[in-house]
Amino acid sequence: MSVQVNLQVFIGIGANLGDARASVSKAIDALAQLPDTTLVARSALFGSAPIDSSGDDYVNAVAELTTSLSAADLLQHLQAIELAHGRERPYRNAPRTLDLDLLLYGDEEINTADLQVPHPRMTERAFVLLPLLQLSADISIPGKGRAQDYVAAVAEQRIQELPIT
Ligand code: ADP
Ligand code: MG
Repeated sequence: MSVQVNLQVFIGIGANLGDARASVSKAIDALAQLPDTTLVARSALFGSAPIDSSGDDYVNAVAELTTSLSAADLLQHLQAIELAHGRERPYRNAPRTLDLDLLLYGDEEINTADLQVPHPRMTERAFVLLPLLQLSADISIPGKGRAQDYVAAVAEQRIQELPIT
C-alpha cells in the first residue's frame, strides 16, 4: 500500500510577450488541471520591470498548490505547460511568453542538475516575494528563513499590483 502525501507547493509565474495577462491566467488554469494536484490559492497579478531580461514589463503571479506529484514530475508538467504556451528559448533570459518556476516544494531542499528548490533567486526578486507573501505572510524558505525578511532589500525594484479588469 502506498501512502499519498500532499505537499504545499508554490509556483512562480511570469510572462512578458504577447498577451501576458492572458498567458498568466491560462497558466493558473492549467496548474489547476494537473493530476494529483489541487489549486489552493492564487495571488493578484503584478506588473514588474524586467530583471536580467529584456522587453516589456512582466506580468507575475504566484500559485499555491497541494500535490502528491514528485518534484521532478511537477517540473516536467510545468515545462509542458510552458511549451503549450509557445515558449521558445532563443537565448538565455530572453523575453518569454511564459515562465513557470517551482519556488517551494514542502520544506524540501533539492539540488539536482535540472532542479534547485527553493528556487535559488527567489529571495532577490520582488516579483516573487510580494505575490508569495500575499498568499502566506509568515512563510519560511528552507535554508533561508522568513521570506518577509528579504523584502527590504528588493524595495528598489519597480513592481505594482495590477487592477482587476
Ligand atoms: P529562469 O526561470 O531562471 O529565468 P529558465 O526558465 O530559462 O530560467 O530556466 C529553465 C531551467 O531551469 C530548466 O531547464 C530547469 O531544469 C531549471 N530549473 C532549476 N531549478 C528550477 C526550479 N526550481 N523551477 C523551474 N526550473 C528550474
Ligand atoms: Mg524558469
